[in-house]
Amino acid sequence: MKKAGSKRRSVPTKKRSEALRKQGMVLSRRVRRLTVSPTVAMAAQATALKRQGVRVFDFSVGEPDQGTPPHVAAAGVAAIEAGQTRYAPAPGLPELRAAVAARYRKDFQVAFAPEEVAITIGGKQALYLACQALLDPGDEVIVPSPCWPTFPEAVRLAGGRPVLVPAREADGFAITDRLVARGVGPRTRAVIVNSPCNPTGAVTKPEALLALGRLAKRRGFTLIYDDTYAQLAFDRPADEGLQALRDLLGDLVVILGTASKSYCMTGWRIGWVLGPKALVDACAALASHSTQSPATFAQAGAVTALNGPQEFVGELLAEYRRRRDFVYPALAAIPGVTCGKPQGGFYAFPNVSRCLSREVPTSLDLGRRLLEEKHVAVVPGEGFDAPGYFRLSFARPMEELREGVRRIAEFLGQCRGLGGS
Ligand code: PMP
Repeated sequence: MKKAGSKRRSVPTKKRSEALRKQGMVLSRRVRRLTVSPTVAMAAQATALKRQGVRVFDFSVGEPDQGTPPHVAAAGVAAIEAGQTRYAPAPGLPELRAAVAARYRKDFQVAFAPEEVAITIGGKQALYLACQALLDPGDEVIVPSPCWPTFPEAVRLAGGRPVLVPAREADGFAITDRLVARGVGPRTRAVIVNSPCNPTGAVTKPEALLALGRLAKRRGFTLIYDDTYAQLAFDRPADEGLQALRDLLGDLVVILGTASKSYCMTGWRIGWVLGPKALVDACAALASHSTQSPATFAQAGAVTALNGPQEFVGELLAEYRRRRDFVYPALAAIPGVTCGKPQGGFYAFPNVSRCLSREVPTSLDLGRRLLEEKHVAVVPGEGFDAPGYFRLSFARPMEELREGVRRIAEFLGQCRGLGGS
């Protein structure tokens, strides 16, 4: 178990704030401690190369390569034309809150009332608001790692302390009650479970989720369940166990979700929090003094995405399955690399620690050199609290994946030539 945050590397904002201090401006401690998201940082480097006219094979960003389904895009346009251009209520349009509740009832067999749903500006704001609403300074939140970098950062921004508990590759990066129990202490307020997991692709099975729920109930903390990639799980059970979890935990279960990935709507910024009404009201109150709500017409488009035909999601999943079935064996076939089979989402997370050498000592160096020398962008594991790995998004066309993996193999071959074992 690691208390994250004590030894974090200094960040660019620190330099900037020092420069500003000289001019008389001092940035807050909160902002000075903030680390720039490594996924965003890698994408920025890749974009800079692309601007120079280089063809970059960019597997760094976590977003579908397909566009928003046309009928959803048309609904957004129609909403603007129909004058849905005014403020929406802070917890979201009533019809979208109802559509989210209905979708969860149908797809995940779990019952939330529309008043138990807050619409947010993407899943990112859902997490941010939930942390702001739940945590007091010094409260601890258990975050199984490897983890999406925004989890620990959102906890810190609320004054909390992320407690990272590392899952093991040998266990398929499974998140279990035994693993989480190692992080539980008197100040534990919550655990964040992300399934399917970004970056590992691990799925927490219904029995494991229920065991986590029993631990949360016994120790009186909230289970925050981030199901961003839920529709993109490859072998979904008939019942995900969410209603059983809710029956067990009552107000101690909070679900965070988004339209971003399954509906190819990353730029629309539509997400949601499902949980007890008091929490939903608190999220709405926070939003009312900061962002109010996502754009009204974007919410109208999301109503169509959720209430309309769902075949699109199935087609997306089939396409990602095809790509996954190419990518993970191809990576695992590279000498020195191990790579598990992603159970959901669109990331492969190979272990490349055996390819490191004196010349390329860390996965951070590896990521940098892979981009510079082979024009392939991946996100080094350091960003996910997992040095020695990298994350490759396979939400890219098949021909790019083939060429990208070929270049990665070539580069890792050179690394081994440089003295890696
Ligand atoms: N949770 C996880 C695990 C994610 O990977 C992401 C996106 N990278 C999000 C939440 C948030 O996505 P968005 O804000 O686009 O809804």
